[in-house]
Amino acid sequence: MRADDISRLAERAGKVRFFGKSLYGYPLAAASKGKRAPGGVLVVGTVHAREHITAKLLSELAAEYDGDYPIDVVPCLNPDGAILATEGAEAFTLKAADRLSLLRINDGSWDFSKWKANLRGVDLNTNFDAGWGKGESNVFKPSPENYVGPYPGSEPETQAAVRLMAEGRYALVVAYHSKGEEVYWGFGGYADYYAESAAVAERLGYTLKRTPRSAGGLKDYWIEKYRLPGLTVEVGEDKYPHPYPEDRLPELIKRHKDIFGLYAEIAKKVWKNRR
Ligand SMILES: [Zn+2]
Repeated sequence: MRADDISRLAERAGKVRFFGKSLYGYPLAAASKGKRAPGGVLVVGTVHAREHITAKLLSELAAEYDGDYPIDVVPCLNPDGAILATEGAEAFTLKAADRLSLLRINDGSWDFSKWKANLRGVDLNTNFDAGWGKGESNVFKPSPENYVGPYPGSEPETQAAVRLMAEGRYALVVAYHSKGEEVYWGFGGYADYYAESAAVAERLGYTLKRTPRSAGGLKDYWIEKYRLPGLTVEVGEDKYPHPYPEDRLPELIKRHKDIFGLYAEIAKKVWKNRR
């Protein structure tokens, strides 16, 4: 997956606008569907590098969505990581010291296919300012996964997502990950919107789970800051390896058919009843 593949996925998804840049300088694209109005849905994929199948899934689901209700889709919040995981370090023009540092973070291996972080070894889904540094598996130095970063919101990809959520256009935020066929809801002491979360899990045939002791995630931040529903959807069966096999994509698309319609219904109701 190269930078222009990621751009093409955004273009296929909808009307593209850019909301920031990755650490390396790639544009972060959000694709809009439906009319432009507040109270919409934000769906974010590929927060974790090796979960790049979610970019393809979301692009396809957005392309198929023909509703009026506004849905913004970010197929890939972590383009640098996705490119690193699929193309390797050679895909980047890096200073020798930075290449060596990547290699060191990756335990001396040039195989980055299981990498989750961004290009300097920060796990974006631990970098948000919500219980930052208090997660069970958090680590405190650059790593292929679980490094929280030097401070909350330190990464350009995190900052861009924070700005997007701050625009006040969304009633529901859904983050796509892989894998396990689970839907995670709630965060810390916030456990509202159970029925809405359960409806999503039921439609997908996934297991609904209360968010465990993770922290610093995108949807964690959304829930804590805005007290609106946020979900993490873990697509795909656990029996398959990382990265999730490309030939299972049609099955994922089928499983998620019309789920954007349900997200729109939920957002509409939540927005109308918000306090
Ligand atoms: Zn993930």
